[in-house]
Amino acid sequence: ARRSERGPIEFFHTEMHAAAVRALQVEAELRKALTQGGLQVWYQPIVELANLRTTSFEALVRWPHPTLGLLSPGEFIPLAEALDLIHDIGTLVLERVCADLREWAGRLPADAPLRVSVNLSARQLARPDLAAELLAAIDRVGVARERIRFEVTESVLAHPDGPAIDHLHALRAAGLDILIDDFGTGYSTLSYLHTMPCNQVKLDGSFVRSLPYDQRLRAIVRHSIELAHDLGMTVVAECIEDEAQLEILRAMGCDFGQGYLFSRPLDRDATFNRLHNPAPE
Ligand code: C2E
Ligand code: CA
Ligand code: CA
Ligand code: CA
Repeated sequence: ARRSERGPIEFFHTEMHAAAVRALQVEAELRKALTQGGLQVWYQPIVELANLRTTSFEALVRWPHPTLGLLSPGEFIPLAEALDLIHDIGTLVLERVCADLREWAGRLPADAPLRVSVNLSARQLARPDLAAELLAAIDRVGVARERIRFEVTESVLAHPDGPAIDHLHALRAAGLDILIDDFGTGYSTLSYLHTMPCNQVKLDGSFVRSLPYDQRLRAIVRHSIELAHDLGMTVVAECIEDEAQLEILRAMGCDFGQGYLFSRPLDRDATFNRLHNPAPE
């Protein structure tokens, strides 16, 4: 009823204004969270499929928002990219991961699975000095480089002339592992894979989901795992949610897995508990 009183154009204007104000609020809140310690890093266990022991973790950024609840990166990374804050978020995540690793290393037995994967976005990799900056950040905290692995998506590898590939070569040469994330969702997989400076692939969750119901997909995944192995890479499957998916991936020789079947992403304290007890329940 209020709509017709104001007329459509005035209504539209008011709505747009409200949306713009909201966007500005969220922007201000994100900047504040970034500078005042309001972003958190959670960790999702990655298990060895043969025995279900936790062998490493993936770092996943979270924003506990005062009114909107715990926000996932899908809800604020696009905004962060638009505001050009993604680099600051990346730095914050890596520094937090290194600080956590150093603290935990001092409190846990030497064989604790203290290895963490950190996501790098295409935009971060476009930065000219990124590899040197990442290595400097790791060394500054004093964490062994072997404890950190970076995850990059296939789309990054599809542009072999940008700085991204050079960064990955530099990181590999410095002793870090590189993992291709969302493997299988890009277009250029086969033409680029053998030249890439990476030593792990992470099979995308969209494949894992349909495995039990799709025989042709099983053939593709089985051969992808074999291909990765032949190229000297190990394979992680993400988004494993049930036993049927687990059994199929195991039978195909997939090395590692991640997903709600094993564990949801954990906050810091829960991660420390998991590090104490890496064996399955
Ligand atoms: P991704 O790298 O593919 O991360 C896996 C996503 O799958 C995570 O979502 C994780 O919580 C979710 N997941 C894990 N197990 C399951 C499962 O069994 N079922 C289902 N349905 N989902 C599962 P999340 O944490 O919301 O992250 C979304 C994306 O945001 C990530 O996708 C990654 O691309 C990006 N991201 C997360 N943290 C960072 C970061 O620190 N830096 C950058 N640049 N990107 C990040
Ligand atoms: Ca990832
Ligand atoms: Ca992924
Ligand atoms: Ca994914």
